[in-house]
Amino acid sequence: MTQQTEHSHLILTGDRPTGQLHLGHYVGSLRQRVELQTQHPQYILIADLQGLTDNGSQPEKITRNVLEVMADYLAVGIDPQLSTICLQSALPALAELTMLYMNIVTVSRVERNPTVKNEIQQKGFSRSLPAGFLVYPISQAADITAFGADLVPVGDDQLPMIEQTNEIVHKMNSLLPQPVLRHCKALLSPVSRLPGIDGNAKMSKSLGNTLTLSASEEEIHKAVGAMYTDPGHLRVSDPGQIEGNVVFTYLDAFHPDSSKVAAMKAHYQQGGLGDRQCKNELETCLQELLAPVRQRRAELIVDKEMLMTLLKAGSEKAHEKTQQTLVAVKRGLGLPVMF
Ligand code: ATP
Ligand code: MG
Repeated sequence: MTQQTEHSHLILTGDRPTGQLHLGHYVGSLRQRVELQTQHPQYILIADLQGLTDNGSQPEKITRNVLEVMADYLAVGIDPQLSTICLQSALPALAELTMLYMNIVTVSRVERNPTVKNEIQQKGFSRSLPAGFLVYPISQAADITAFGADLVPVGDDQLPMIEQTNEIVHKMNSLLPQPVLRHCKALLSPVSRLPGIDGNAKMSKSLGNTLTLSASEEEIHKAVGAMYTDPGHLRVSDPGQIEGNVVFTYLDAFHPDSSKVAAMKAHYQQGGLGDRQCKNELETCLQELLAPVRQRRAELIVDKEMLMTLLKAGSEKAHEKTQQTLVAVKRGLGLPVMF
């Protein structure tokens, strides 16, 4: 068990239960969490309320995926004895802090957030933009600060959220007699943005270009077979390009032997290494990575009661922790704390 001292780090990460987790989550965040959980206290938030911000009219999509995400966590090796896994909607302090923070952030500031801007465009919201979606970075700031987290392992699309969180920390602390909120830092993994299997810049549930952690052998085979390589590499003997070649991006992200990948790249650039061979190499390593995860996940997902019990226990612990921050902020603002 990790011991928390005054100077030790505290980690918060999380995922929206908008679908099953995928390879982007694995290299962008999950792999790191499995390592970090033995070094620091770690909270992992299943962000169902945030999932609703762009799925308001289909709540069942979110609720059905909560335990799917829970199963994904356990299948990749997140240990509920070491990491506290909790559910956002079970923690009222997060919603209350969001309300308080909304008053110190301007609309123009949220509109400037480049990730939100991009997502609004991608989702085609236009004038039907849900208010909750626009302010989700504020609710993320509430999540991070409520736990007192100072390290946040995320993909690079989340960097603007961390910046915005620190602005809120600064502003809110300046309104309190003494600082309550902790500044935080993003912890980027070496692969902070895995492209989709279609070559799109980001593998994402909303873009439908994912390989989930429970993908079948056949799905993996098909996805790798259809992957984009170098369109100019017509004959095996032609020199090929590495840049923008999704197969090599994936080999870099997933192959356990980086010197072998370096040798393959040199060979490919020189000419004489075929796309088929590169794809075979990638397929083998993805099949090896995902086979045990798929197997463990299949065993876990049938025991919904066990998954819910674990989630409830983690949420109880998180409730206590987040209430403490809320009470300290309310007291600092002079709001009565009645219960
Ligand atoms: P949605 O499309 O519903 O937003 P998503 O696939 O983007 O889903 P999230 O739950 O929003 O997944 O992201 C959870 C975490 O995983 C975030 O820290 C995010 O940066 C990281 N992440 C998601 N996709 C990738 C990716 N392709 N590469 C690296 N990290 C990723
Ligand atoms: Mg996302």
